[in-house]
Amino acid sequence: MSEKEDAVILPARIVLPFSYSVGRIANKFFIELRDNKRIMGVKCPKCGQVLVPPRRYCGKCMAETNEWVEVGDKGTLIAYTVTYRSSPNLPKKPPLAYGIIKLDGAGTNMVHILGEVDLDKIKPGMRVQAVFKNQREGNILDIDYFKPI
Ligand SMILES: [Zn+2]
Repeated sequence: MSEKEDAVILPARIVLPFSYSVGRIANKFFIELRDNKRIMGVKCPKCGQVLVPPRRYCGKCMAETNEWVEVGDKGTLIAYTVTYRSSPNLPKKPPLAYGIIKLDGAGTNMVHILGEVDLDKIKPGMRVQAVFKNQREGNILDIDYFKPI
């Protein structure tokens, strides 16, 4: 290419599948979902907050967590949104409702899909319960969705 020619730039995409270890904390969380349909959190030794999903360090006081506690599979919907746009990253076909859910016994909220729900009747404060998949793989989608109760 001479100095007077324009460079031709074409868009491209690299698909790069990879695997990684989720780490000690997420490992136990996902195994409990997969094998026992139990939702586990960790309790902060300093402030007592139960973190769900569990994290190695408390976000409030930065203490390292090490005490596991089972929280309920039921909780309260704090907020929600509905997406109508399709995306390859969505686990289900839109329209799809996502909720911020505070599980009973948890001090933090988690985000998950809402199912078996009339999109026009979703309200913050409504009670919801986890519905587990029959075939679980050890990831957050072992909870298929949360349904109103
Ligand atoms: Zn704490």
